[in-house]
Amino acid sequence: MKKFSLQNSKFMRLQKTSSIFVSRETAHSSLQATPPTIRPHPRIINSSFSSSTVPPHTPLSSSDFLRLESFIGRSERLFVLCGAGVSTESGIKDYRSENVGLFATTKQRPVNYSDFLNSSNVRQRYWARNTTAWPIFKSFKPNIAHRSLATLEHLGKLHWLVTQNVDDLHHKAGSRQVTELHGTVFSVICLTCRQKLSRDEVQDYIFEINPNWSATPEGFAPDADVFVSEEAVRTFKTPTCRRCSGILKPDVVFFGDVIPKKRVEFVSKRLAECDAMLIAGSSIETYSALRHVKQAKDLRVPVLILNIGRTRADPIADFIINAKCGDALTSVVEKMLKK
Ligand SMILES: [Zn+2]
Repeated sequence: MKKFSLQNSKFMRLQKTSSIFVSRETAHSSLQATPPTIRPHPRIINSSFSSSTVPPHTPLSSSDFLRLESFIGRSERLFVLCGAGVSTESGIKDYRSENVGLFATTKQRPVNYSDFLNSSNVRQRYWARNTTAWPIFKSFKPNIAHRSLATLEHLGKLHWLVTQNVDDLHHKAGSRQVTELHGTVFSVICLTCRQKLSRDEVQDYIFEINPNWSATPEGFAPDADVFVSEEAVRTFKTPTCRRCSGILKPDVVFFGDVIPKKRVEFVSKRLAECDAMLIAGSSIETYSALRHVKQAKDLRVPVLILNIGRTRADPIADFIINAKCGDALTSVVEKMLKK
């Protein structure tokens, strides 16, 4: 199958000419389709990271290509649910993939919400690591999977996209009809006065109160987390809200926390408006994702799973394609653009 680059194609022309970019600026106003490369903070010492974030996989078969093409082609209001598998091609590790996921390669686990609330030591460790990760994490770029999905939206095919990722890459790729189910690491909230701050603003504040602090990142997790030395954690001063001294937390749903009810209801409404559900790059391990797949089945909406490896929703899916998201989506979108 001929390879296709979405970077220099009709897609880029669509991005330049589409009125969507003017009329649907509902999300992050500062985002661009191709973000600038951002240099790490001078006091964050860069180190090399493994590029093997995509699990082992086989090439997309011709029968799977036809299956995916037919599924997307028949839909007029596609609902897409994305997981970490979409961002692994940008170099961001996922949690659960065999051999390459965070759980398989390290003993590290994401911070638990109640631990974060109840322990100043946990917050100190979390913010030391997050501060070290931030300059690099925010500079990750969307890949062909993100761009293909943005193109589907601009073509009028994709009705709504829900992502479990907190990396902002769908917005950066140009998608606008997006709900970040688990929030975004690009903003920070005070848990007491509910003031919201940009993550960049908080980074500047952190270095104001830690003028001589430095750290070296060692390995990346999916949620802007890295591993740093115990010395770096011990010498780090945790930021608190400047207005009320409350606890500051990235505006993401931590493990052990729940997704805001209004957000869940919003997603359910968007799903009810759709005629097909595509799951891209998610193992659907969390109930917060599985409940929407179950809703689709209740609504008799066909479900296709595109993922490397098994998922929790396999038993209720109508179609399963075991392939890399970028390869599969790009092939289909390329063909649609040629028509
Ligand atoms: Zn506050």
